Amino acid sequence: MSTEDGPGLRTTVFFKGCPLACTWCHNPESLSPKSHVEWLPVRCIGCRTCESVCPQKGIRLDETGVHTSEQCTACGACTAACPTQALEMKGIDDTVDALFDTLMKDRAYWGGEGGVTLSGGEVTLQWKEALQLLQKLKAAGVNTAVDTCGFTQWETLQQLLPVTDIFLYDLKLFEDDLHKHFTGQSNAQILDNFDRLTAACRETGKRIWVRTPIIPGATDTDDNIRALAGVVRDRAEKWELCAFNNLCRDKYERLGKTWAFKDAKLMPKARMEALTALARESGAPCAVWSGSTALEDSEKEERS
Ligand code: SF4
Ligand code: SF4
Repeated sequence: MSTEDGPGLRTTVFFKGCPLACTWCHNPESLSPKSHVEWLPVRCIGCRTCESVCPQKGIRLDETGVHTSEQCTACGACTAACPTQALEMKGIDDTVDALFDTLMKDRAYWGGEGGVTLSGGEVTLQWKEALQLLQKLKAAGVNTAVDTCGFTQWETLQQLLPVTDIFLYDLKLFEDDLHKHFTGQSNAQILDNFDRLTAACRETGKRIWVRTPIIPGATDTDDNIRALAGVVRDRAEKWELCAFNNLCRDKYERLGKTWAFKDAKLMPKARMEALTALARESGAPCAVWSGSTALEDSEKEERS
C-alpha cells in the first residue's frame, strides 16, 4: 500500500544489497545482500529460547542485549521460536514465480494507475531476477516501476527498459568529491546513465521521475540544487526534493549502528520551498518537494 514509490497505489519490493553507502541511508537493513536477524528489545523477555534452538550457536543474550554472530546462517529457527516475536528476519530468499504470486494478491487495490515498484537496496544488483519478474508483471498487464540509484552498467538499465513503465532515478549530489564522501562512490556513471536513460525514455515513451533526498549539511545547499537543476532540466516528468526525515533512527539502534544523522533536525518548510523555487529558476520546472518539515514558530504557537 505504498503511495510514494511511483504513480497511484503500489506494492513495493525492497531488494537487499546496495553498491552505495549513503551516510543518511533510510533503509540500513537493505545495505547488506544477506538476510539477517533483527532484535526488538522492547519485546524481549530474556528467556534465552533463541540461544537454545540455534543449531549454529549463532545467537547469544548478554547484559547488552541479543546478538547474532558470523555463524548465523539465517535459518529462521530463532525467529520462529521466540515466544514474544522479539526477533525478525530481514530479507527472504524467494523465487521469481513465488514473488510474482505474492504480488498479484495485491492486484485489487492497484487500480488503473498503480502497480508494482522494485526498490531497495539496489534492484540492479539482482537485475536478472528483476528482469524476469518485470517480464511476468508486464505480461499480466501490471504497471511497473524501477527505483534505482543509477550506479550500474548502462547495459543493465537498457535490459530493464522495455519492461519498465516508469523509472524513479536518484540524483543526490552533483559535486563528485562530495558524492564520494557521502555515498562512497563517484557519480560519473550515475550522471552518464541519466543522460542515456532520459534519451531512451524519450524515444520509447517511458516515464522518469528524479528524486533527491534533501539532507541537512549534505545535499541541501543552493550550489547542489542549482547544479542538479542543470542536469535534470526538462528531462524528467517530475523532480521530487524529498525532505530529510529521521524515522529510521530506531532501525540503526536495532542494527547496533551509530547513525551520523541521528540528531539532525527536520528541514524547515521555508527552506524546502526556497530550494524548490531555486530548482525551478535554475532550469528544472518539474521540481516539487515532499515530506514532513519542522514546525514553524507560528505553528508551534498555534498548537501550544
Ligand atoms: S527468544 Fe526472544 S524473548 Fe527470548 S531471549 Fe531470545 S529474543 Fe528475547
Ligand atoms: S537465524 Fe538460525 S542460525 Fe541464525 S541465529 Fe537464528 S537460529 Fe541461529
